[in-house]
Amino acid sequence: MSFLFSARSNKTFKPKKNIAEGTHQYDLMKHAAATLGSGNLRLAVSLPDGEDLNEWVAVNTVDFFNQINMLYGTITEFCTEGSCAVMSAGPKYEYHWADGHTVKKPIKCSAPKYIDFLMTWVQDQLDDESLFPSKIGVPFPKTFIQSAKTILKRLFRVYAHIYHQHFREVVELSEEAHLNTSFKHFIFFVQEFNLIEKRELEPLKELIEKLSE
Ligand SMILES: [Zn+2]
Repeated sequence: MSFLFSARSNKTFKPKKNIAEGTHQYDLMKHAAATLGSGNLRLAVSLPDGEDLNEWVAVNTVDFFNQINMLYGTITEFCTEGSCAVMSAGPKYEYHWADGHTVKKPIKCSAPKYIDFLMTWVQDQLDDESLFPSKIGVPFPKTFIQSAKTILKRLFRVYAHIYHQHFREVVELSEEAHLNTSFKHFIFFVQEFNLIEKRELEPLKELIEKLSE
């Protein structure tokens, strides 16, 4: 969770998404942070007793967005039009941006542009009260898990790009422990609730197998 990050790495790419204090979601987030500190990651990602799955997925999705925002924020100076002219995750995977609504025809663009599109899109989803209700008593839409799956599938690509194209810089910045902790948490979470299809995870298959041992 975000509390694991040092003060040094507080540079974010997009503004941090806050969960309002005093809400149930805030308590859930605190609970997640505390359980995560126990070191048992499989247990930490599981749905707490009596809690709503939608709410649990929502709180964790916001947290992953914030973590990735921070991780990518530390390396933006290295991820440029020159270094990353296409959005890729190793030689075998290239991504073209489309959100399925405003951008239907995929755009081939640089990684910084793609990630900017992606993070702005996620931010818009998280800020959409009809999708991510923050007020008590407002129900989640029936399509919530499906939407969360799309968000998480796309967020994964930022991890994949960082691991494949910027791991050296991450190591130089001594941020690899943060990256690995964050990614392991992310993977355990999506595995627990089956949120990302296997083929989407292919670009980091070996790392995921190693983490899951
Ligand atoms: Zn890059």
